[in-house]
Amino acid sequence: MAKRAAKAPKPSGSATKVAEPDRNCPLCPRLAAFRADARAREPEWHNAPVPSFGSARAPLLVVGLAPGLRGANRTGRPFTGDWAGDLLYATLLEFGFARGVYDERPDDGLTLVGCMVTNAVRCVPPQNKPTPAEINTCRPFLTNAIDAGEARAVVALGRIAHDSVLRALGARLAAFPFAHGAQHDVTSPAGRAVRIFDSYHCSRYNTNTGVLTEEMFRDVFRAVRGFVDPQSP
Ligand code: SF4
Repeated sequence: MAKRAAKAPKPSGSATKVAEPDRNCPLCPRLAAFRADARAREPEWHNAPVPSFGSARAPLLVVGLAPGLRGANRTGRPFTGDWAGDLLYATLLEFGFARGVYDERPDDGLTLVGCMVTNAVRCVPPQNKPTPAEINTCRPFLTNAIDAGEARAVVALGRIAHDSVLRALGARLAAFPFAHGAQHDVTSPAGRAVRIFDSYHCSRYNTNTGVLTEEMFRDVFRAVRGFVDPQSP
């Protein structure tokens, strides 16, 4: 039986404050149990929902799938500490969406510029595979990141992120099929308008198998840069 989605979180503070799940969020029992095991095994790791990185006022929101066990789940910052982060942050730096040096640590001093990075599912799932029910249950946090934020462009890394962003916007999936390099202009029933830029996920598997090359990934962010800042080359 389909699980009911959690109630949408209420942001506190300013209109651009994004609500984050509690460190001990219990809404996905399988993920909470996996988290508890990881805490017992690796007490120095983050082992909790990974909050969004960057400002909610940013014109660009990058949405991944979920934290990697030894990446964001270990370090506590999205895409930090594994191959996907190496490629993502190098690309954000190249196109001016980040400043500083990415050194695989949350205290490396890297800052995002006009960009926020988050995940469709905030807790690490076993084998990097959240269930459809878990994706639905965590969606209110993604919806909030979109609604409370000011992004005009959303990069969806992979089909699951793409589908979850569409659902967060109340859009019909069939009307906006996922394809690497595709762009979709979507307006939510509440009038929230964003352009979604699709990309294959920048995982080691996709890059090792040639599904996604670094140039293909750069092309997506070149298009995003042109959209949010048409004066740029
Ligand atoms: S994935 Fe999201 S909804 Fe599920 S337990 Fe983690 S923070 Fe809560």
